[in-house]
Amino acid sequence: MQGANYIDGRWVEGATPFTTQNPSDLDETVGSYTKVGEAEVREAMAAARRAQPAWAAFNMQARADILYRIAELLKARAPEIGKLLSREEGKTLPEGIGEALRAAQCFQAAAGDVIRAQGEWYNSMRDGFNVLVTREPLGVIAAITPWNFPIALPSWKIAGALAYGNAVVLKPSSFVPGCAVMLAQIIEDAGVPAGVFNLVMGDGRATGNVMIDEADGLTFTGGTATGRAVLTRAAETMTKCQLELGGKNALVVLDDADLDLAVEIASNGAWIQTGQRCTGTERLIVTRGIHDAFVERMAKVAGSYRVGHALDPETQIGPVANVQQFNENLQFVIDAQAEGAELAAGGGAVEARTRGLYMAPTLLTGTRAEWRCNQHESFGPIASVIKVEDLDEAIHAANACEYKLSSGIATTSLKNAERFRKASKAGMVMVNAPTAGLEYHVPLGGRSPSGYGARETGSTAAEFFTESKTSYINHGAV
Ligand code: NDP
Repeated sequence: MQGANYIDGRWVEGATPFTTQNPSDLDETVGSYTKVGEAEVREAMAAARRAQPAWAAFNMQARADILYRIAELLKARAPEIGKLLSREEGKTLPEGIGEALRAAQCFQAAAGDVIRAQGEWYNSMRDGFNVLVTREPLGVIAAITPWNFPIALPSWKIAGALAYGNAVVLKPSSFVPGCAVMLAQIIEDAGVPAGVFNLVMGDGRATGNVMIDEADGLTFTGGTATGRAVLTRAAETMTKCQLELGGKNALVVLDDADLDLAVEIASNGAWIQTGQRCTGTERLIVTRGIHDAFVERMAKVAGSYRVGHALDPETQIGPVANVQQFNENLQFVIDAQAEGAELAAGGGAVEARTRGLYMAPTLLTGTRAEWRCNQHESFGPIASVIKVEDLDEAIHAANACEYKLSSGIATTSLKNAERFRKASKAGMVMVNAPTAGLEYHVPLGGRSPSGYGARETGSTAAEFFTESKTSYINHGAV
């Protein structure tokens, strides 16, 4: 179903063709698609508006069964989706298949959410009264997603929206439309009624603006600058927003850390999945006593990774996802060196058999917390080391950055771990675990400007995808 947008249960071609390239081999075209214009986006929003009331009233068990069916189809097609994801975004095949399975788990969990009771009952201060607080679907949800988790990220947004009785219009990143098309096919095959789910591809700003204007709620994941633009737009129509944005996540490594574990979690956070996780580790804040040993071990690990074609079974780290990000990464390293950072590992492009966007896992040392390289998100396989004296200075450095998404600490002291956990301003804190690696049954997200509005997934999903209604009932009168 290439080239297709999915609107009101029909596959629709847009007027503007575009193709996607394999980041492991720029000579390979992955897919040909089309972007629709404003009129079609409006039609998708209108279709969602028409279909939503019947979906909200759909038999609860039948709605849960459909979501469960989506999960089963995602599982059955995980190898195929994983391969497409690897070709489109550059994750290794096991990572791609793993992401498809994670998408399935999100729908499986959402199927359970459908049948969980929503609402609270209170005694009233007035005799003969009761008070009910119930939750109702928000209505039409606009979902806008980035390129770095092309199947899981749309899935957890769509699953949450559908579970609570909303209709959805999804606009995926223009870099990874293929996974979204496959997801739309699965949603259609699972029996979601026409109009309840729609997929549009289009220019970010033009499509986004129509979606924001016409939606009851916007769930957006992407860069903080884009997040600011969508929030400004949403303010005009007072569209409810949930934004998951950029990060500059810090891992603190204390003298008392288990060095093996610290190196394992730091290298995982910084370089696995090519560092293209919003929760990836970009700042390593290390106390003086362990600093030199830690840096030496990290540089060794960085140099040991096999960087290469995403579908090569030997590959541990795939390519950077697109040319724009690749160029930004290389420039980031040059800029960091210009402000005084030293290169302990990597720093540049890696040659391989195919013309891919391969970058060596990079470790910058001798940096200071206030430098640009420790303030701006790099979103690549790049981490900077900041040497500090003690936990107090480490906490200060970790919090001395506007981003507040994820943070972590490596320590064998429960007291130090708890001090850091409480003092960290990030939305998520990891103790002796990588800053990346999240679970779908608990709230996910950062504090502003890394996030805005109710957190995604887990118990807070209902906060965003529903509106609360408080009803006072005078039983005495009936
Ligand atoms: P972008 O912000 O560039 O794009 C995200 C999405 O927004 C894309 O679909 C894009 O469309 C669309 N878009 C672009 N401009 C507008 C606009 N004016 N109005 C509405 N939509 C618009 O992010 P990237 O795709 O580059 O993704 C990387 C970023 O995402 C990183 O900053 C990363 O930290 C963040 N991220 C955050 C996560 C979190 O949970 N906090 C998780 C994953 C990523 P198009 O592609 O067509 O331009």
